[in-house]
Amino acid sequence: MVPKQEIMQAVKKEGIKFIQLQFTDILGTVKNVTIPATELEKALDEGIFFDGSSVLGYATIEESDMRLKPDPNTFVIIPWLQEDLKTARMVCKVYDHEGNRFEGDPRAALENIMERTRKKGWVFNTAPEYEFFFLMPDEKGDPTTKPSDYGGYFDLMRDKGDNVRKEIVTYLNAMGFEVEASHHEVAPGQHEIDLRYTDAISSADRVAMMKYVTKTIAYKHGLYATFMPKPIYGVCGSGMHTHLSLMTLQGKNVFYDPKGPYKLSKSALHFIGGILKYARETCAILASSVNSYKRLVPGYEAPVYISWANRNRSAFIRVPAGREARTRIELRNPDPAGNPYLQFTVMLAAGLKGIEEKIEPPEPVERDIFHMSPEEREALGIDSLPESLGEALDCMKKSSLVREALGNHLFSHFLYIKRQEWDEYKAQVSDWEIQRLLPAL
Ligand code: GLU
Ligand code: MG
Repeated sequence: MVPKQEIMQAVKKEGIKFIQLQFTDILGTVKNVTIPATELEKALDEGIFFDGSSVLGYATIEESDMRLKPDPNTFVIIPWLQEDLKTARMVCKVYDHEGNRFEGDPRAALENIMERTRKKGWVFNTAPEYEFFFLMPDEKGDPTTKPSDYGGYFDLMRDKGDNVRKEIVTYLNAMGFEVEASHHEVAPGQHEIDLRYTDAISSADRVAMMKYVTKTIAYKHGLYATFMPKPIYGVCGSGMHTHLSLMTLQGKNVFYDPKGPYKLSKSALHFIGGILKYARETCAILASSVNSYKRLVPGYEAPVYISWANRNRSAFIRVPAGREARTRIELRNPDPAGNPYLQFTVMLAAGLKGIEEKIEPPEPVERDIFHMSPEEREALGIDSLPESLGEALDCMKKSSLVREALGNHLFSHFLYIKRQEWDEYKAQVSDWEIQRLLPAL
């Protein structure tokens, strides 16, 4: 824990004028209240009050007085704001009107399960690879679906998208977010930035901030960045494949065993077993928008079937090359539109359950599952992810694993809000229906 004095000194030395106090609503939207740096000491000691009833998924009117307390470990200077606007961001913990930790704060769910994991002697690390599109705005500045370029996978482009991505990476590194790589992705206008692993709480704090950095810097250059999972029909969507590993408190990789099958330890195999077993129940959190299910279809490198593999990229879980300290598994159904705190919480909950219940995974499937017949898949016992948000919510509703991991408040509010989204969406009449059915029926 960074002592308060250290932060106060940094504020003075760097000439910070504002502190951006951040948290997320239930869907992962970053919320912020900005205070002058002169108020920071008070905020650290007493917290800052806000109206919880105005934040999606938080409190009711009767119990709306809530308090934000900045986590001293999260002090980061926002690198592109200078002089009179010089600002630092801190991520906050949310407390209710009685001063208890608010169980509807998505970060609290992740903190709880991380603490439970720490008691077992482990730290859960995540490394997200997030994908997004740069789109062109129209003359009014509103986003269109026209991509900012026509490049493909790993293309070295001469357009401004490439430089905007480099600028984003420079700022992320300046904030200490350790970018490992970035590149143009398969679809026109699509890019990817890969972060180095860190403990899941810091990692979720970074993902929330990264989306803001990406959108802000794109906007500055006249582009619109979107994390919508499938903004354009017929090309790849944007995922947030996440690399997962457990380490001991001393920093030893728990997933590595030189004598185990594929050099994976029993714990790694059981962790995989848990994630596979609970894949349908956790899917609404990992792919949480009606649009997410337009991405999870065959043919676009996004997973559809619940299986694992060492190399095969059609699999839901892949074990990338690299062992010893680098041993990890890659989960491929999450997308960047979700709430990273809830996403990492359910990934860990499913994996831990696998270890606790010693769930053996089936054999890995190295063949391309997209080209198997339904009979072949059935013979191999390969189930499918939910096909829609509605189906995913039905699976989640029955899940004691997800309820326990999120707590009753987050669980019931998430289901309620997302069910409304699904009900509204499913009653829409789409362009496809008008074009195909209206002339024919
Ligand atoms: N864009 C693909 C997806 O939606 C992933 C491509 C890749 O990085 O392999 O998951
Ligand atoms: Mg990718």
